[in-house]
Amino acid sequence: MDLSIIIPIYNEEGNIDKLFSRLNQVIQKLNLKEVEYIFINDGSKDRSLELIKTLAKRESSVKYINLSRNFGHQIAVSAGLDNSKGDAVVIIDADLQDPPELIENLYRKLREGNEVVYAKRRSRQGEGAMKKFTAKLFYRILRNVTAINIPVDTGDFRIIDRKIVDVLKNMPEQQKFLRGQISWIGFNQTFVEYDRDERYAGKTGYTYKKMARLALDGITSFSNFPLKFATIAGFVVSGISFFMILYALYSRFISKDYEPGWTSLMLAVLFIGGIQLIGIGIIGEYISRMSANIRNRPLYIIQEKTT
Ligand code: UDP
Ligand code: MG
Repeated sequence: MDLSIIIPIYNEEGNIDKLFSRLNQVIQKLNLKEVEYIFINDGSKDRSLELIKTLAKRESSVKYINLSRNFGHQIAVSAGLDNSKGDAVVIIDADLQDPPELIENLYRKLREGNEVVYAKRRSRQGEGAMKKFTAKLFYRILRNVTAINIPVDTGDFRIIDRKIVDVLKNMPEQQKFLRGQISWIGFNQTFVEYDRDERYAGKTGYTYKKMARLALDGITSFSNFPLKFATIAGFVVSGISFFMILYALYSRFISKDYEPGWTSLMLAVLFIGGIQLIGIGIIGEYISRMSANIRNRPLYIIQEKTT
């Protein structure tokens, strides 16, 4: 198998046929022997599954995986990766926001000796100011709090070598943030720039809730900054408390301007408050590492798939 193309599908009935014909045109140009298209139906509520099945009947290169419910984009893509056989694998959105024609460039650059070629967004069409702003902000926060170099303004549209897929399969964490994991893996990575189109049909499946979750998964999987922040806050509060303690002692013994009992009360509250925050921060450091690994559940459940 030369190339696998992974397409996560969540309510994309208006895009599937158009996407396939555009993909097919590009792939023909590459002159490959064997190509597979893997559609992953991620709990669509429209006719997507039906359309995919029809396509699979007509085209022997089309395969599908039907997940038991909506697991989310990252997990749908992971299911596709686990079931792919290609020496190279393309991940592409179904809504034609990622232009299939770019695959030609991606493939060429891969063959030039890279293991990852990601598509970097020069501009984004047809997306609201709020989405663009939150996306921009997220990519920049992520870059500042993580130690690895996750490229900014880059989604999952990319081509990766089999070597990368094999490593990804051995990274079983539940909080999937594929673009981060792929950066973390290393090898030779490069990019091509493109202008992101408007969605062809339908509407986005990424609600703000899903986006916020992806953002938090990205940050917590690749950075301990939030935990360190708790620890630092603990120290800052304790530092301030220390001065308040000095003031309380001064009021009690030197200026003698105080209510009886106030001093000891203040000392205890401030001191314990500070120590508690430090403690919670440190415990959090451990719990976050543990909880991610303990719930050893399968990442997704397949209801049916082509064999
Ligand atoms: N998608 C998915 N599961 C979801 C949400 C989205 O498989 O829960 C798919 C969707 O069908 C599309 C891709 O992920 O192929 C990107 O989603 P979308 O276009 O809705 O996101 P946006 O481009 O608005 O960020
Ligand atoms: Mg989209």
